[in-house]
Formats: sequence, structure tokens, C-alpha cells
Amino acid sequence: TSVFVSGATGFIAQHIVSNLISKGYKVVGSVRSTAKGENLKKRFGASFQYEVVPVLEKQSAFDGALKSHPEVTVFLHTASPVTFSAADNEKDVLIPAINGTKFVLESIQKAAPQIKRVVYTSSIVAIASYQQFFDPNFVCSEDVFNPVTYEEGKAHPVSAYFASKTLAEKAAWEFVENRKPAFVLTTVNPVFVLGPQLKDEDVTGDLNATAEFIAGVYKLNKDDKIPESAGHFVDVRDVARAHITAFEKDEAKGKRIISYTENFNSQLILNIIRKHFPELHGKLPVGTSENSDVSKYARIEDSKSKKIIGEGQYTLEDTVKASVEQFLKAKV
Ligand code: NDP
Repeated sequence: TSVFVSGATGFIAQHIVSNLISKGYKVVGSVRSTAKGENLKKRFGASFQYEVVPVLEKQSAFDGALKSHPEVTVFLHTASPVTFSAADNEKDVLIPAINGTKFVLESIQKAAPQIKRVVYTSSIVAIASYQQFFDPNFVCSEDVFNPVTYEEGKAHPVSAYFASKTLAEKAAWEFVENRKPAFVLTTVNPVFVLGPQLKDEDVTGDLNATAEFIAGVYKLNKDDKIPESAGHFVDVRDVARAHITAFEKDEAKGKRIISYTENFNSQLILNIIRKHFPELHGKLPVGTSENSDVSKYARIEDSKSKKIIGEGQYTLEDTVKASVEQFLKAKV
């Protein structure tokens, strides 16, 4: 089977591609430049091909790439801007995410009617708003949508990301409802995705937005304030596996699948780093144990999803350990 992965350069997508190849799938990845494609080709070898699609938010952008690969029967749409600090909320975030998703589905229907399964990488932010995440009485489940509007997304860079994912996912379900394509849609809705880069050499410069949560704690000095990052966590390797289950299993057809393991905050990350890396004790702050309470966030009711994808295989402790081992190897 041949699987198309849009945004193949991404943090999550690279783990998906690697996992697919190790399971014997052939992969066609879309990238924004030839240089990026060549890098991936070197990395993934003969089972990987790439197509350059420079702009997501253009009608028919994927037609050519899809027509060149009539062997593809599964499409994983992961490409989307991941930022909480865009310069232009509409142009940089909302439009590529929402229009990009609509156009990609249109291209699949038109140029690749042989595709039977489409998985869209949505997010927990399509399920709950920022305020709802920190409300212990709120329940995040496969049945609810973040009430955020396009106008709110335009007004604030964090809301822009939340609105981009919510409205793109809604557009995908509406497309299926109204246009009756030949494919079946599944969405994967991960919580904050942390964990190691696929390759140690990628641990340079700025990491993707959420992988920075662990790096931000690792880089603290004794007197620094501990960052406020907190919420729900899942390891990138579990998210990759969820994407594959999402098209392999019949039970996943037409479903939203939450991918979640446990809660985290920066203090917990710090505690784990201190436990496993005594050589960093002199440099890092200690923080305070009362800050380790992560029980007060919204409850994630993902039992339907867990029935399909199973439990997460990597705890926060595994994830932090693997990430910091990479930072130390890369000497960042
Ligand atoms: P990355 O930033 O590492 O990957 C994003 C991918 O999308 C890259 O391949 C990037 O290409 C591509 N991309 C971004 N903007 C555009 C654009 N305007 N046009 C074309 N391609 C674009 O992020 P992640 O791996 O974390 O995210 C992947 C997906 O997972 C996204 O859909 C994200 O919303 C979703 N997600 C992420 C979570 C997280 O915690 N990280 C949680 C839940 C969902 P390039 O490399 O060229 O920049």
C-alpha cells in the first residue's frame, strides 16, 4: 500500500513516515521545496518519494502530485501552520489551515478517486478552548467542538491556532457530508505532542512549537522562572502510531480519535530531568513541589478512542528522558 503524507518535514509527520516505512508501506510525502524533499529522501531511502507543493491554500494545489501517484490509496493530511505567535493571524494561520484542508480534499476527490481513507491531523484544540482546558469541570470528548469563531481567531495569535484547527476540521466533516467523496474520513486529535525528534541531528535551533516545552525547561538556569506551559500530553511516537491505526482499522472509519496519555506541566518536566540527569542539578532550578499538581485541568474522556488505538505506550517520564538524552547528545 502506498500512503501520501502532506507536510512530510514536520515533527509528527517524520515519525509517521518512519513508522509507515518500518511497517512495509511505501510513502509519498509533500514538501515545500526540492531541498527539503532531497533531505527526506536521503533519510528515508527507497520507500520514500516526494512531491513539491509549495502553497497549501491554493485550489487544485495537490492535483499534480496526486495524478503522478495513482498507486496511493491512503492520504494523511498533517500539513498546517503550528504557531502561537503569527505575524498575520489570517494569512499565516487561518487561511492555510482551513482553505488548505478544503482544497486538499477537493483535489483528492477530483484527482485521486482511488483514495479510500483520509486521515486529517486535527487537535485537542478543535475540541476545547483555552479556557475550557483549565476548567476542571470541563470534559473533552470525541463529541464536542471548540466554540471558537473565525473572528476570534483573527483577533489573537493563540486563538488563531485554535480557530484554524477547529474550523479546518469542521470544514473536513462538512466536505464529506456535502460532497460524498469516495474516501472515508478519520481525524486524529492529539493533545500537546512532546518527545524526541526522529533524528538526533534535528535537535538544532528552534524546535517545533510544542517540542520546545521540554527544551525550555532543560535550558533553564538556577534563578530562572519556571515556564507556565501545562496541560495534556501525548508522546509523538504514540501520535504517529494513532495515525496508522486510524486508516488500518475499520472501527476508525468516520471517527474522531483523541490521542492522550497523561497531564504535564513544567515543574513535572523539571522533576523528571532532575531525577534522571544528576549532572544537570547544579545548573537547573528546583522549583516547588506544590507546583507538581496537574490534576486540575479539564478531564479527557477518550474511552472510545482508546478502544480503537489502545493506551499510550510512552509516559511523560519516557518522553522527557528520551528528549533530554537527545539534547545532551546534540550538545544544545
Ligand atoms: P511542525 O511545525 O513540525 O510541522 C508542520 C508541517 O506543516 C511542516 O511539514 C510544515 O512545512 C507544514 N506547513 C506549515 N505551514 C504550512 C503552509 N502554510 N503551507 C504548507 N505547509 C505548511 O508541527 P507538528 O508536527 O507539531 O504538527 C503537525 C500537525 O499536527 C499539524 O496539523 C498540527 O496542527 C497538528 N497537531 C500538533 C500538535 C502538537 O502539539 N505539536 C498537537 C495537535 C495537533 P515546513 O517544514 O516546510 O515548514
